Amino acid sequence: MVAAVAPAPAIADGRFVHGSAGVGDPFFPRAGNGGYDVSHYRLALRYTPAGNRLRATAAIKAVATEGLSRFDLDLRGLRVSSVSVDADPADFRRRGQELLVTPRRPLPGGEPFKVRVRYRGSPRPVIDPDGSKDGWIPTNDGAFVADEPQGAPTWFPCDDHPTDKATYEFRVTVPAGVVAVANGKLKYRIRGRRHTTFVWREGSPMATYLATATIGRFEVSRSRADGSPSYVAVAPARTAAAAPVLAKLPAILRLWGRKFGDYPFAATGAIVDHAPSVGYALETQTRPLFDTVPDQATLAHELAHQWFGDDVTPRRWRDIWLNEGFATWAEWYWAQHTGGRSTGAVFDALYAVGRGDTAFWNPPPADPGKPENLFDGTIYERGGMALEALRQKVGAKVFFRILRDWVSMHRYGNASTRQFIDLAELDSGMDLRGFLRAWLYRPIQRGKPPLP
Ligand SMILES: [Zn+2]
Repeated sequence: MVAAVAPAPAIADGRFVHGSAGVGDPFFPRAGNGGYDVSHYRLALRYTPAGNRLRATAAIKAVATEGLSRFDLDLRGLRVSSVSVDADPADFRRRGQELLVTPRRPLPGGEPFKVRVRYRGSPRPVIDPDGSKDGWIPTNDGAFVADEPQGAPTWFPCDDHPTDKATYEFRVTVPAGVVAVANGKLKYRIRGRRHTTFVWREGSPMATYLATATIGRFEVSRSRADGSPSYVAVAPARTAAAAPVLAKLPAILRLWGRKFGDYPFAATGAIVDHAPSVGYALETQTRPLFDTVPDQATLAHELAHQWFGDDVTPRRWRDIWLNEGFATWAEWYWAQHTGGRSTGAVFDALYAVGRGDTAFWNPPPADPGKPENLFDGTIYERGGMALEALRQKVGAKVFFRILRDWVSMHRYGNASTRQFIDLAELDSGMDLRGFLRAWLYRPIQRGKPPLP
């Protein structure tokens, strides 16, 4: 629900233009779209795991940010059967990951409009620049649905960039006995003889890459965790192994609430799937998603992302250390809190890595250089070290004030590395620019980043 910064429209058509095919993110030039801002997605999905068949309708509420004679949605694969705009049939075409929509009447700038897209097919994940896959990933009993950084369009048409946050409703119909778990609160279930429909609602603004509708034969437990309704779904073969780790969820949320500010969302929980081909976990909003039973560090990491990543989201993908550096530092802090090594000891051990180990030190966390490096180890570890160095430089009290102010200033919005450096200077009253720039932007050739 924050307007994307759209580059100048390419084709003018009187007062009306064609919305651009991307929002100008250098790492993913076609991600997101220009000319409008989505406020709500209502996704009705009917999924049959046998044969990986999806039949769906997406109803999207948006506001035109300029007069539009045409606009794009992002959609990968799948077959579109019809598109309407404000209830009138609209012309549409496909071009790569873009679905080009020409409404019958041009859309005036500043006016709300509704798009409805009917589509079906066999959803497939997208292979990312680093070789991993995301999006709709079929499993042996359903689908593991994780969308960072570009998987959302594998299962719904959208404005696929972190700067366009929206609220969501998911109505997911699956065969009886199968469970569909999305973000937010489970409003109700409709149980038929052969199918069940799960209706989920996420009422806080959410980036597309944090949406999920993970499906499988899960065992479900519902409770409260640190004041929030908690919905936990676990693959049956994993329940015994997952129980002791998931039992820590309320305590982790409580600690993060104390240190980072109140929990930002209306629900919590977790999804522990059995998806051995995936190889990662994701901080899907309100309900982190794990491909296997996580350890405590991973659970603490994904829960910390609810503040750093989900609530405050990078403005550009290159700023991803604002997610991963923070969640990595939080892992270290949870270990210290539970009697393990201190964050300072972790820092010292990592700082001892020789500067000749360029794969450890480079690329610098706030300048990954190219999309292949978005999730390099250095984004996590040197990013976490930058925060620990900051903590030691300004002291714990000021450090946590910076983190809490960061969250409250940018609640449900987007932010950049420059804004973080500005805030650190403001809250500490110190000149930190050279220090933080060395940690965040300087490639390591001759010397390591400065000690605090
Ligand atoms: Zn992470």
